[in-house]
Amino acid sequence: MPGIFAFAETRDGEIRKVSQEVVTAARKLADALGSEVHAVVLGGSGIGGSAAELGRVGADKVFVGEAEAFGTYSAEGYTTVIVNFIQQHGCDAALFPATSMGKDLAPRVAARLGVGYASDCTALDVQGGDIVATRPEYAGKLNAQVACTGKPAVLSLRPNVFLPSDNAKAGEVQALDVSINTADFGAIVREIKAGAAEKLDVGEAPIIVSGGRGLGSPENFKLLDDLAAAFGGKCAVGASRAVVDAGWRPHAEQVGQTGKTVSPTLYFAVGISGAVQHLAGMRTSRYIVAINKDPEAPIFKVADYGIVGDLNEILPRMTEEVRKMMA
Ligand code: FAD
Repeated sequence: MPGIFAFAETRDGEIRKVSQEVVTAARKLADALGSEVHAVVLGGSGIGGSAAELGRVGADKVFVGEAEAFGTYSAEGYTTVIVNFIQQHGCDAALFPATSMGKDLAPRVAARLGVGYASDCTALDVQGGDIVATRPEYAGKLNAQVACTGKPAVLSLRPNVFLPSDNAKAGEVQALDVSINTADFGAIVREIKAGAAEKLDVGEAPIIVSGGRGLGSPENFKLLDDLAAAFGGKCAVGASRAVVDAGWRPHAEQVGQTGKTVSPTLYFAVGISGAVQHLAGMRTSRYIVAINKDPEAPIFKVADYGIVGDLNEILPRMTEEVRKMMA
């Protein structure tokens, strides 16, 4: 039976949480279309150890391709294996996470298959037998509904939007033949050097405290570091472009149109005005808390909770309360 293909991304020998989100979304489509979920995991040796867990979130079958060459991402290698898999097994839709890897891989797969591609989807539905994807356009100013009439529909899903939910299926693990010639790879990743490895990445954190020009100085970001620390390892510090351009914070922390797109459970915008380019990167956060001394700041239009006042007074008190709450 042609299923819904779900790409399960791995990193450092582990299946990433975002893969559970992709499988959960695939399950919902499969249920609507009366089909199965086929998850594919690619990685170095040993990656199959935890593959069966994808059954908990809805995979009927998990295909594991283990090869030394797949210990790190290979655009050519992964694309070839996935395209071969889809051509062999067939599928109505192929879902990928809209992570750096997924955003590189999914369009390659679509191009090789000669089908269309919808990126960064925030909702999926089935209408009249067609898969309909919702995706933000024009920096999040509108949500377009894209009907995918060709097959398979190749889609990437915005992380942290399709939350994993338990929906136990067989999770039957099968080995996938990945015996391809690495000499054909245009490029091979030999080593990945993670920057600031001890810090949680804004793209992955369930809580983000972002600071803007209103912080007044790079030193004042200590107030945000303290608040992030009070959340106990679940929180990353983000930044607006204004402070990144000023050299106060690294570009890796920038949220927005020319930075990262994030969808955490909780997003604090502190001393950030809420320019459309910033909103483009964070407006799908589950809960948005804005702290700004200007009651007319546009950020309050998207905030679930707004605090009008001086961040220098508010942040220490908030940090104290979070510490008590987390104790
Ligand atoms: P400001 O707009 O200067 O806002 C500072 C805010 O702090 C104000 O609202 C002020 O009221 C408040 N404030 C000041 N002091 C205090 C205080 N003591 N207590 C509380 N509040 C205080 N921006 C991004 O963020 N991400 C992007 O990816 C991005 N991409 C862009 C791409 C393009 C092509 C362009 C043209 C722009 C882009 N921008 C991006 C820039 C964007 O337009 C804004 O200039 C930027 O977001 C403003 O940053 P800010 O909110 O930190 O600063």
